[in-house]
Amino acid sequence: MLRVAEHVELTDTGLQRRANEDAFLARAPLFVVADGMGGAQAGEVASQSAIEVLSRGIGDSADGSLEERLSAAVQAANAKIHGLSIADDERAGMGTTVTAAYIGESDVTLVHVGDSRCYRWRAAQLERLTDDHSLVEEMVRQGQLTEQEALEHPQRSIITRALGPEAEVEPDSQTVDGRGGDLLLLCSDGLTTMITDDEIAEILRSNTQLTAASRALIAAANKAGGRDNITVVLLRLEELDLDPQEAEQTQVGVSTAGLAAAAPSSPSSDQPAAVEQRIPQQARVTEKRRRRFKPGLGTLLVIFASALLLSGVYFASQAIYFVGADNEGFVSVYQGVPYELPLGINLYREDYVSGINLSQLPSAQRATITDHRLRARSDADDLVRQLELGQLGSGSP
Ligand code: CA
Repeated sequence: MLRVAEHVELTDTGLQRRANEDAFLARAPLFVVADGMGGAQAGEVASQSAIEVLSRGIGDSADGSLEERLSAAVQAANAKIHGLSIADDERAGMGTTVTAAYIGESDVTLVHVGDSRCYRWRAAQLERLTDDHSLVEEMVRQGQLTEQEALEHPQRSIITRALGPEAEVEPDSQTVDGRGGDLLLLCSDGLTTMITDDEIAEILRSNTQLTAASRALIAAANKAGGRDNITVVLLRLEELDLDPQEAEQTQVGVSTAGLAAAAPSSPSSDQPAAVEQRIPQQARVTEKRRRRFKPGLGTLLVIFASALLLSGVYFASQAIYFVGADNEGFVSVYQGVPYELPLGINLYREDYVSGINLSQLPSAQRATITDHRLRARSDADDLVRQLELGQLGSGSP
């Protein structure tokens, strides 16, 4: 089973533009880059609208295949942007690219319009997975331009397909296999019109940390002139081993009855900010957000949990996981047991934050998440994964 092990998103205005009309979404399992165009902030409206529509999710398996659902979401974004553009003269003709990657159980679904790109880095080889809907790429395909000439062509930013300009749009969609260790790079043309695929590959080869690689990509595009906004979404896939034997072993000797009943309260309103860093080239980094929740615990529970700690259960607890929601309501997998001792000692740590919010779920599923039942890692991961894939019926465990 595939999962996103880590991801980093960076967007930078570049050196020549005043505003940044790029936008991105990074909420596992869905990752999107949108590059807006149009005067008087219309480009920002277009790209943000695409992200906003896609962030609502893509329905569940009853609505069709992943390709169909992701394409439908992109078409809905097109309808929204087109509607906005014909309602306001200042926004007439605005548009945006969109490149979306949905990380499924064993595959990656890509839906794409325009000249933003998705690349896959596997076994130290860079492979571009999307075709640009651009004038120069069509000329390259027809043999009228070389790749190098395309990079220098004055009309290299003219795209032949976008969200917004027309009432209907036909996105490209495809499903590619994903493997543990793969990196996926989604980026706007502010990267790829400034540096070549070989340069991207060299940067990924020499920067194994995602943050360092993303920063190096932005820095290279700026060093080459930074003529446009640059956005980089970089994610690393991992393969989860759902060996049933492992699940069994983890559950042995753990009595969950008393613990589950004394689970922490629902998410508090304490909102930790997203981690945002500034780097010299005005770039923004949003890394995987770290969230906590504050269970309101009674004295008895503290004594009980302290006794558990003292009796060495703490060590055993590290093989235990539970599913809960962080204080923003996002369904998460925690390692440990759902208790917090005085002096801020947690008996759990966040292992994974999904893009699924409790508020999106029917009440039966909400109850499953908030009962904080102790689970084997594979079981906890699987539960969240099924929610992410929209496959969990309301009667499931
Ligand atoms: Ca651009």
